Amino acid sequence: MLDIHVVSHTHWDREWYLTYEQFRMRLVGLIDRLLDLLDEEPDYKHFHLDGQTIVLEDYLEIRPEQESRLRRAIESGRILIGPWYVMPDEFLVSGESLVRNLARGYRISRQFGTPMPVGYLPDLFGHVAQMPQIWRQFGLDNTILWRGFGGTRAEYWWQAPDGSRVLMLHLPPEGYCNATRVVFDPEAMMTRAATAVDYERARTAVGEALLMNGVDHVEPQVGMRTMRTCCQASSLPASTSSSRMHACRRCSSRTRSRSPCGPAFSARGTPQASCATRGRR
Ligand SMILES: [Zn+2]
Repeated sequence: MLDIHVVSHTHWDREWYLTYEQFRMRLVGLIDRLLDLLDEEPDYKHFHLDGQTIVLEDYLEIRPEQESRLRRAIESGRILIGPWYVMPDEFLVSGESLVRNLARGYRISRQFGTPMPVGYLPDLFGHVAQMPQIWRQFGLDNTILWRGFGGTRAEYWWQAPDGSRVLMLHLPPEGYCNATRVVFDPEAMMTRAATAVDYERARTAVGEALLMNGVDHVEPQVGMRTMRTCCQASSLPASTSSSRMHACRRCSSRTRSRSPCGPAFSARGTPQASCATRGRR
């Protein structure tokens, strides 16, 4: 049995190949259209805003009149925010900065609704050994990461030097975009979906597959309902419009009741040498 979670999201580098203000104009357009989409399509259940609350400030400085609408979408759980204030590089800042960053992210999240209870590390180029300890101190028992770890399986236990342990969902080689820019040609779409599902089936121990529908600076993809309808009409396992939160909870409960995850991964020693990777952010 394999459950597929289709997670719609965007990944937001605030400043990269464009300036901060150029990206901000794209962010304003994205959230404007996202709010319209959520009103128009009740079946489009969730959208994940990349785990950093600073995008809320960036948006509302330009569109203060949209605050109540945005707040409603967050309170109802359709737009997922937090836990970070801004996505950091774990090695370029101090430990205190990481903790204060999260504390601020939690504080802002609570002003709008509930912070997403997922330790989200999608595009960080390496990981400090104490990250599971920090997540536990913030009440989280899980993490999702991509870069910075070379394992091939989908789930691991990640243990900090103090013994704190979290369930790690390890994204596939394509990262946080293994279902991005889905082509709505049903045949091509189903071929691609089947390939991704087969890949996830081969590496998951607990039977939860994440299909990440989004990538850097992309808007929500309208037509996800078409994809779900096609999946449900095909031989693929049932797929749902999901959230990382839901996937993590399902994975946690299955880990307790079913087969164990992959071997424990401990970042003791020299995390820079053992965990860091290079590549495009
Ligand atoms: Zn990035």
